[in-house]
Amino acid sequence: MIETDAVIVGAGPVGLFQVFELGLLEIKAHIVDSLAYPGGQCIELYPDKPIYDIPAVPMCTGRELTDSLLKQIEPFGATFHLGQEVTRVQRQADDRFLVETSKGTQFLTKTVFVAGGVGAFQPRQLKVDGLDTYLDTQVFYRVRDPAAFAGKELVIVGGGDSALDWALNFAQEGPHQAASVILIHRRDGFRAAPASVAKMREMCEALQMQFIVGQPTGIEEADGRLTGLKVTGSDAVTRIVPLQALLVFFGLSPKLGPIADWGLGIERKQVVVDTEKFETNEPGIFAVGDVNTYPGKKKLILSGFHEAALAAFGAAPYVFPDKRVMLQYTTTSPKLHKVLGVE
Ligand code: FAD
Repeated sequence: MIETDAVIVGAGPVGLFQVFELGLLEIKAHIVDSLAYPGGQCIELYPDKPIYDIPAVPMCTGRELTDSLLKQIEPFGATFHLGQEVTRVQRQADDRFLVETSKGTQFLTKTVFVAGGVGAFQPRQLKVDGLDTYLDTQVFYRVRDPAAFAGKELVIVGGGDSALDWALNFAQEGPHQAASVILIHRRDGFRAAPASVAKMREMCEALQMQFIVGQPTGIEEADGRLTGLKVTGSDAVTRIVPLQALLVFFGLSPKLGPIADWGLGIERKQVVVDTEKFETNEPGIFAVGDVNTYPGKKKLILSGFHEAALAAFGAAPYVFPDKRVMLQYTTTSPKLHKVLGVE
């Protein structure tokens, strides 16, 4: 059991900046994310795209913003617990919170900062009857080990970059080359890099892979194995596409997930907070960034940064009940210079 002042749920840009604002007030934090890396949407959805509205930073990419935030919070030595989802938050008799993750990590904390953004990212599922039976044996929504697909008859469904990239990867000569690759997409148009689409068409011409326009509508099974996918084409004819493994790439959809079960006031899948401290209906639990809602809320990184500053001040009385916490400037305060390690 880890005893601490604060647990931050979510290591997106706002969760990361929450570490900074708590650090200035000498509140130590642990930070948990279900992803294996920090950065939230900035890293998961747009690492190389430019952001233009971070104050005083004319342009930075999602990755650059994350790297800068990680550097900025370095002095505070927050402990990261990545690749695990916070599943339970429960108030204890002494008013502290028991926080538990999917990996069994347990915290006893005075305050909780929910910075879960739009939720934990989960792959969008292909809804076809009976398909779930083969999940993680023959049906996959992500590639953990490309070697597992080498030499197999592969069917890949999807029309974005992941579908195209993996189709090309497995169709090309190389250590992970599949026996065959059939790409299926509902239309003959892609949301993927034009170069990948051109390469895919070239490989289809050369009979190194196939592309079928259609919608998966059913499965074929034999002896407890998935043997084929029924695909209905635009001509309304259903064909059976044989396979040994099926890869589906429909993108990631965020799910608020366990946050909805912690007794917090929720409105349209967002946690209701006040605008003085960004505190929820549960005293000691704060919510910052995209996950919260209040009149006039805008889902912007800069709004999340402001919320993190006020939430940290809001939390101080729970952590230091006998101390009056004053606002100090990082420019001039010797005390802040000390906590920042810049003396
Ligand atoms: P997120 O970035 O969503 O991070 C939340 C994290 O919490 C995630 O990593 C998630 O895995 C984790 N999490 C959720 N639930 C749990 C749980 N139970 N346990 C553990 N971890 C959990 N904003 C701007 O201001 N300017 C822009 O130019 C801009 N451009 C954008 C472009 C795109 C394409 C997109 C999609 C968004 C853009 N945004 C922009 C919005 C911005 O990215 C979000 O406002 C910001 O990421 C919110 O940060 P956050 O930390 O609140 O949440």
